[in-house]
Amino acid sequence: MSYRAVTELAGAYCPLVPAARLARWLQRGKYIYTALGLERLCNHCGEFWPADTEFFYSVPSQPGGLNEWCKACYRDWRDARNLKRRAA
Ligand SMILES: [Zn+2]
Repeated sequence: MSYRAVTELAGAYCPLVPAARLARWLQRGKYIYTALGLERLCNHCGEFWPADTEFFYSVPSQPGGLNEWCKACYRDWRDARNLKRRAA
């Protein structure tokens, strides 16, 4: 089964992060624990969002398994880029 098929079956999920790395990221403020669970900092808007694939695109090659930008930031950037390309 392809990776995409598996993630579609599973719906949104929180990728596993090795404990030592997660401890470092929590210390640096890249991840925080809130009443809602684990949240990840978006490098673009500077907001914390739940660290799962509902709020971040999955990037299996990244250590955290999630994109550095939240989905909203990524979509804004992608749409602006596509508009520019179409205009050119
Ligand atoms: Zn963002």
